[in-house]
Amino acid sequence: MSYLGIDIGGSGIKSALVDVDDGSLLSERFRVDTPQPATPDACAEVVAGHILHHGYHGRLGVGFPAVVRHGTAESANNIDQAWIGTSVAGVIGAATGLDVVVINDADAAAVAEAAFGAAKGVGGLVLTITFGTGIGSGMLVDGRLVPNLELGQIELEGHSPAESFFSAKARRTENLEWDEWGARANRYLRHVYAVFSPDLMVIGGGMAKHWDKYTDTLDESLPLVPAALGNNAGLIGAAFMAAKA
Ligand code: BGC
Repeated sequence: MSYLGIDIGGSGIKSALVDVDDGSLLSERFRVDTPQPATPDACAEVVAGHILHHGYHGRLGVGFPAVVRHGTAESANNIDQAWIGTSVAGVIGAATGLDVVVINDADAAAVAEAAFGAAKGVGGLVLTITFGTGIGSGMLVDGRLVPNLELGQIELEGHSPAESFFSAKARRTENLEWDEWGARANRYLRHVYAVFSPDLMVIGGGMAKHWDKYTDTLDESLPLVPAALGNNAGLIGAAFMAAKA
């Protein structure tokens, strides 16, 4: 079975057709820069372009970078404020004519890593932390998603939200060396570990593919692994959730 998954991020909107039985991609990944400002209409127009690009007709899975309850956005940290209170499913459904299932982007990544990736078969508490424009977090307890955990929004070392200092975006804007950023990420991950004592922490988002560049700076005692599905985890999880709906 195949479904289209879309990952709406602070910097890019990515999509691919996904085989939801094994999590593999059945098309090339298509990426378009996130419009700035990332208003509902502007984003919906880009998503409609993705649908045309793939010539897709089925139910659409969307990973969205905000708290999402019943298809509606309840926060907007790296997207336009106009999203707050907006039905993501409604706006994208109207622009595409498709039935739309929406979940938080990091939750989508967490679900995909549990189904097909680094957390497959892992019980207990699994946290997927995505380092990108923001910091996303997805929590699974014995394979069951606890939605909308927002660990990028905590205050740490005086930085509120923590994602303003510890995200991948901070590395780019502050021109940090890999080990400098890695040391930051390590302090953040140590803090998260101290609070939750997770059995496994999966590192995803844009930073998954750079794992080798900073892994030396991370504490060996932390139960860390890079996302097996890399930065595609979000769109794979979104497609997977569309299939399950
Ligand atoms: C948002 C989260 C999102 C994360 C990654 C944060 O700014 O608050 O909901 O998962 O960025 O996109």
